[in-house]
Amino acid sequence: MIKDKVLDFLFPPFCVACGRSGEWWCSQCQQEVQLLNSEACPRCLSLGQHECSGDLPFAHVWAIGFYHDPKLRAAITALKFHGTSSLRHSIKLFLGARQPSCFPADAVLVPMPLADKRLKERGFNQAELIAKVFCECLPQAKISLCLKRVAHRDPQSSVGHDLATRQLNIKNCFEAVGQVPKNVILVDDVITTGATAAEAAGALLAAGAESVSVLTLAIGA
Ligand SMILES: [Zn+2]
Ligand SMILES: [Zn+2]
Repeated sequence: MIKDKVLDFLFPPFCVACGRSGEWWCSQCQQEVQLLNSEACPRCLSLGQHECSGDLPFAHVWAIGFYHDPKLRAAITALKFHGTSSLRHSIKLFLGARQPSCFPADAVLVPMPLADKRLKERGFNQAELIAKVFCECLPQAKISLCLKRVAHRDPQSSVGHDLATRQLNIKNCFEAVGQVPKNVILVDDVITTGATAAEAAGALLAAGAESVSVLTLAIGA
């Protein structure tokens, strides 16, 4: 876009992860992101072999990488707080080569909604931005805004990392509106305990969705 070119001219880009000038998220930092090649457990979000005692309601959980990876986290933070469309370009290139392989053919991406108050503060919903980027990388994917946030609570990061506490904090925050797709992929920037996504999934399943999966840029605390 011309606007981006003008902005890049006025404010030359520098990498959000390493500070190198030239790109908002430099190709070297993108290459250094530690990628997650397998799905997380849809019941407890564990990776690899484990004794599962979780009861999260997801069909699949896909994440590109780890939240503790500074190279990926820098990009997520930048997207969250600056929402630069130049970064969007980098993320699109990054994701283009790394799509989870087993999406249901008729899956519909549903971005995790923000509370109105938060949306006003920030001006955009980063989950919607990420869903659009995924959609541009997945030719068969569609986006539906069939989930609304009907209550505003304290951010999950402010109530600690305990799943039960977070589940309580987010309870009854979501409502499905209009036609709910059969197979939903909830999109968000990060999944931590899964409490928020589970509450959202509950609302979608109650409204007629048959399966709800989760797709995020990062997993972990
Ligand atoms: Zn860099
Ligand atoms: Zn498990």
